[in-house]
Amino acid sequence: MTADLNPFKIAQAQLDDAAERLGLDSATHELLRWPMKEIQVSLPVRMDDGKVKIFKAYRVKYNEARGPAKGGLRWHPDETIDTVRALAAWMTWKCSVVDIPLGGGKGGVTCNPKALSETEKERLARAYIRAIGHTLGVDKDVPAPDVYTTPQIMAWMMDEYEAMTGRHHPGVITGKPLPLGGSQGRGDATARGGVYITREAAKVKGIALKGAEAAVQGFGNAGQFAAKLGQEILGLKIIAVSDSKGGVINRAGMDASELIRFKLAEGTVVGFPGAKPISNEELLELPVTVLFPSALENQITKANADRIKAKLSCELANGPTTPEADEILQAKGVFVLPDFLANAGGVTVSYFEQVQNTYNYYWALDEVHARLDNKMTNAFKAVYAMHQEQGVNMRQAAYLVSVARVAEACKLRGWV
Ligand code: NAD
Repeated sequence: MTADLNPFKIAQAQLDDAAERLGLDSATHELLRWPMKEIQVSLPVRMDDGKVKIFKAYRVKYNEARGPAKGGLRWHPDETIDTVRALAAWMTWKCSVVDIPLGGGKGGVTCNPKALSETEKERLARAYIRAIGHTLGVDKDVPAPDVYTTPQIMAWMMDEYEAMTGRHHPGVITGKPLPLGGSQGRGDATARGGVYITREAAKVKGIALKGAEAAVQGFGNAGQFAAKLGQEILGLKIIAVSDSKGGVINRAGMDASELIRFKLAEGTVVGFPGAKPISNEELLELPVTVLFPSALENQITKANADRIKAKLSCELANGPTTPEADEILQAKGVFVLPDFLANAGGVTVSYFEQVQNTYNYYWALDEVHARLDNKMTNAFKAVYAMHQEQGVNMRQAAYLVSVARVAEACKLRGWV
């Protein structure tokens, strides 16, 4: 990975910019530039063929000044300690920007989940918890799903943790299946939060969304629900979607539910009836009203930013836009809804899940939606006000709001 595409270097550069604008003292700045705790382990896991394979795994607790660490677990072949550090930093700013009492963490395993059977995934999930479970807990650190991890994986992990501790602890992990203490509304929460943020942005920018064209890069949890809820709530016309195997386009619009059914059946959107093929790169450059980058980091870089034509870019993925690309998009007038604001719906409903687990009393779906809307709308308003007051872009504004809150918590604790 080249230095300028290393996500942790990017996260540090973004923080440096915010620290300078906020006038943070050097100790606070240095504290916030690095994870406060890191764990790296090797996990021996027996494969179905009887051989043992060793997996590298990580958990980073970036900053816990505002509350216990919180953040997903990613299983990906390209996972490195620096990806996990970056994602943990962004989780810290994310929990802060939506003002929930949690710190930031993240974890991962370097592996190719597509090459693992269900039984191998279960053994890997349980091995991960046996290795790091003693550092988890509702008042310590609470994982959740991320790329290529699922509610079923969360269920195995919770079960292993409960076997280790001998007690029920549903709040130790979020994104669980509903029968095991999952929250109503967690499944689509990341995209729903992004859709609420897009609605608010369109209001202040005077952009009409009904019937407007949208494209979605990445058709997993975040992207599928962005298409579905973008269509249902905002009236967007979904003209292009893609996944790791390629993309499809149909200018007449495609029904999101049909696309999801096709993806679940075929494992890809490629070949969707009535649509033409389009590459991931071409999809990003379509002249749509709303672009939802919903795959991975470093998709919009200095190499293609000049060709991005969307009016709004609602970043459901973490880190899809590099700092150089940000400057180019700003100059072009693309209104970027930055990742840790736009995709904060997932962690917000994860937090609701933890609260319900602690109460042992569960809310109805409409209550979850109303509370999520309130959190996302308030976060958007705070960031937009900062954007206007300080004359900075929305990502810088989101950093100013969230870093100031974390810095204040560090100071109040007497750490700096
Ligand atoms: P997922 O595993 O459900 O789906 C990932 C999707 O991206 C898949 O459809 C895959 O085919 C596609 N993809 C992978 N590489 C691609 C590429 N190079 N080009 C195009 N598509 C590609 O993952 P997810 O949970 O939807 O996460 C997607 C992004 O959203 C990640 O950046 C993640 O960190 C972020 N995010 C997810 C959540 C959540 O609650 N799931 C919350 C916040 C942020």
